[in-house]
Formats: sequence, C-alpha cells, structure tokens
Amino acid sequence: MPATILVVEDEPAIQALIEVNLRRAGHEVILAADAESARRQVQAALPDMVLLDWMLPGMSGIDFARQLRGDSRTRQLPIIMLTARAEERDKIEGLEIGADDYVTKPFSPRELTARIKAVLRRHAPQSTEDAVELGGLRLDPVTHRITDGRDEISLGPTEFRLLHFLMTHPERVHSRSQLLDQVWGDHVFVEERTVDVHIRRLRAALEATHHDGLIQTVRGSGYRFSAA
Ligand code: CA
Repeated sequence: MPATILVVEDEPAIQALIEVNLRRAGHEVILAADAESARRQVQAALPDMVLLDWMLPGMSGIDFARQLRGDSRTRQLPIIMLTARAEERDKIEGLEIGADDYVTKPFSPRELTARIKAVLRRHAPQSTEDAVELGGLRLDPVTHRITDGRDEISLGPTEFRLLHFLMTHPERVHSRSQLLDQVWGDHVFVEERTVDVHIRRLRAALEATHHDGLIQTVRGSGYRFSAA
C-alpha cells in the first residue's frame, strides 16, 4: 500500500515541489503549514512518515519532533527533518531528538524520494512494495498475491493490509487501537471491534491452507503474527 506522508512545510513553493514528487513516487500526501495543524492531522490519523521543516512559524520543527517522540502513540513515527541549515551542530541536534534522517535544502527531488524510501524500508516496511515471506506464506504487495507455495489465498483489501502489517511486524503484540492506526490509518472514527471482525475474516481465509494459527490472540492485549 502507498505510504501516507505528512509534509510540514510553510513555504508554498517548496510544499508544492515536494507534493508533486511524492505523488509521482506513489505516496499519499497530507500537507500542513505549521506544527499546530500538523498535530491535528496526526491526532486524526497516523501517517507513515513525517517530513518536517525545521524553521516553521510558531512552534519550530525540532520542538514538534521532540513532542512526537515524547508521546507513546507517535514515538515510532519516522521523521525526516528538512532544513536550510547545513551546520553540523544542527544536524547533530536533529538526530539527537530522534529524527531518522536529515535533508538539507536545496535538495534534489530524487535524493528526497531515495531517502524516504530508505527510511520507510527500515521503519514502515508495510508501506514498501517488498514481498514478505514468513511462516510458509508469501505476500507480494505488487501483485496483491498471497501463496503458501502451492495455493493462492484470496483476501479482501482490508484483510490483505492487515496481514501485510502483521507479517512485516511479526512476534509483537499489537493492540486494537495500534492496528486501527497502522492498518486503517485512523484510531478515532473506527470502532475497535472492527479489528476483531477483520481478524476473524483473515483467519477464516487462512484456514483453508491451515495457516490460521499464525494469527494469535493475546488476551487483553491484542493480536500477534507468530511463525515461531
Ligand atoms: Ca520554513
């Protein structure tokens, strides 16, 4: 599935340039011109990554990044800092607060999209197009196919995204609200029991090839994909 990238940038020309290039690279783009509106966007739905300008009107990009890192819901959110400041100590400050990468303006669109791809591959593998093989299943995001080496398993779009997320984050327990954020992109407007409904459908589809045991319920906590 394409990555949703929140772009926080106050200069309209740079905002437009980034938007065009990210869309061309297949990403969904959400725009914000300051930290306050970026915070509202993040509260409504968690993006896969934040591209964050350092110098913003009001709260600075670096302070907003610090805030994101201080909140358990957004602690893992990949952040790339954008800045016109090329000084080494700024770069160090950016990386110290936990930014995943740092791009200095002026940047080439090609460099920016390459950096985004690298960070997504490390931190949000469910939003890349890399095939995943685990527990006897192979899921290919490009062809939208899941096989066990012999048979093809057919899933609805939500179950596909759910399985993709679980397979790229195996052996970890995900709460319903985390799954809503990561798979539905929204923890506010969808009810948590929706997750249970789709987990049930996913298991039913995996039952035919006896792979339903890969999806485990962790009582009181959530769900886990385990090939162990
Ligand atoms: Ca700026």
